[in-house]
Amino acid sequence: MTQDLYCWRCKRVVPMLDEAEWARYLALIEDYVGKYKREGSRDASGRRLPQPAKSRVEVVADFYESLVGYPVVEPGCSFFEAYAIDHHRLSQIGPPCAHCGKPLRTPRASFCADCGTPRAN
Ligand SMILES: [Zn+2]
Ligand SMILES: [Zn+2]
Repeated sequence: MTQDLYCWRCKRVVPMLDEAEWARYLALIEDYVGKYKREGSRDASGRRLPQPAKSRVEVVADFYESLVGYPVVEPGCSFFEAYAIDHHRLSQIGPPCAHCGKPLRTPRASFCADCGTPRAN
């Protein structure tokens, strides 16, 4: 299950992926890249093969939406926003601050980057 937590890079609360969802995301991208290489490249005689129907950004946006139930990435958004999912991983953002509740930013952080409270555990 995703958890809505503050993202330090996006500077807003976003749905963060758990490890199972992250694994699905990676598998999806791997699958897409493989497909893209086959379909988006040229054949032996140099003819360009058809591109996949969806762009990678659209594939990522659809996946993110399927997890949380609403469009996380607006249509026509910047490339960067669609790829924000790359850093929305629960295991990489550290535990929540005991004082303000924001993630500590990295799993090894020793204090909160926002309010300065030392890590509780
Ligand atoms: Zn973010
Ligand atoms: Zn804090």
